[in-house]
Amino acid sequence: MESTGGVKGVVRERIGILLGFAEKEAKRNPARSARYVSLARRLGTRFRVRLSPESKRRFCKACGTAWVHGFNVKARLDPKTGKVVYSCACGGKKGFPFKRGRAGR
Ligand SMILES: [Zn+2]
Repeated sequence: MESTGGVKGVVRERIGILLGFAEKEAKRNPARSARYVSLARRLGTRFRVRLSPESKRRFCKACGTAWVHGFNVKARLDPKTGKVVYSCACGGKKGFPFKRGRAGR
């Protein structure tokens, strides 16, 4: 069976992998981590693949840092907007719609 995603499916997978690397390196090597993030974003731009909502939650758009919970980002539920607000160590804030399930951790 051919996957319907084609090239874009592969690119999306690559982006996921790169973001995974970025998360792993975030503590040990922030510079390398940021590079993985920028590579992932560039892939998305080049192939016109939009980052999935999941992927967008994995790094800071303002400073390009991969987010590691409890290390450089704090997630907090805003009861007023019903959004999860991620506060990056750089001071950047981003709200995401609250998703059911998998909210723990
Ligand atoms: Zn940031």
